[in-house]
Amino acid sequence: MGWVPEGPNPAIPAWAQDKCRLYALWPFANKCRAHCEYCLLGYTGGPRPRDWTPAQAVAGWQRIAAEHGPCYILFGGREPAEELPLLGAVLQHHYGSIASNCMFDVAEFCDLIPPDRCELHPSFHPHLWRDLYEFLGKMAVLRGVGYRIPSVVLVGWPPYLPRWAEWVPRLRAAGYRTNLAPARNCTYEGRDLPEGYTPAERAILDSHVQPVLFTPEEEICKPGGVVCAAGHAAFAVMADGTIERCTQVSGAMGPQTLFSEDGLHLLDAPLPCGETCCVCVNMWAFHL
Ligand code: SF4
Ligand code: SF4
Repeated sequence: MGWVPEGPNPAIPAWAQDKCRLYALWPFANKCRAHCEYCLLGYTGGPRPRDWTPAQAVAGWQRIAAEHGPCYILFGGREPAEELPLLGAVLQHHYGSIASNCMFDVAEFCDLIPPDRCELHPSFHPHLWRDLYEFLGKMAVLRGVGYRIPSVVLVGWPPYLPRWAEWVPRLRAAGYRTNLAPARNCTYEGRDLPEGYTPAERAILDSHVQPVLFTPEEEICKPGGVVCAAGHAAFAVMADGTIERCTQVSGAMGPQTLFSEDGLHLLDAPLPCGETCCVCVNMWAFHL
């Protein structure tokens, strides 16, 4: 269901809809230790530069909570769980989903992250684990102490694709939805992906993933040019703290940032979007 005034926010999971009115994207994480060859973000080196401190970010989110109530934040970027104290401090005021490779220490995670205020969205990167059993064991421990873990992401890196026939049923049997994604913006043995998958690899992907998801980037996006509630019922805090309607459109919310002392100023109503293509699937719920 899409967004309607006074209705529950459609981008927020049902369990948090009575707690949060606003949905927020915060791709703040600027480092990751996993070094996946297929990293969508082209991640190879050290942390990206940052000119704000965790204390400034927590103060900014505290101001937003005081004025607008708790938000539902999608914590993303590189690896959000590299900064568990920051995540935990923001979750004192808000709720959210944490996208993670789950390399974190379980005891530290449980100490800092309140299970009743978040969902964990793990991705299974096989090179980080001895096998799927080890990954599933860690997830079972986390579920056992109360964390919601609705789904697991797998990336269609060519060497892993033959294992999907085994991994996908095992994940589903353990009670996880599977979010199966083609590799993008990366090269395997000289082949640009996703365009360069072999017929055999495409056959595996075809059996698991909607074909539209591994067409060229410009073909997966819904047309923009719609009236959209982003900026009104949702907003994005970019890596530098700038507040935007979403992660794609810049400049529509004025010069405000997470660190502005006078808080968050939302658009008064949904507005037409000037983009020809809306690439963020999470935001399609805000199209009117
Ligand atoms: S875990 Fe995610 S952010 Fe980190 S290197 Fe792998 S794909 Fe990139
Ligand atoms: S790019 Fe998409 S989410 Fe952003 S304002 Fe336009 S239609 Fe809305």
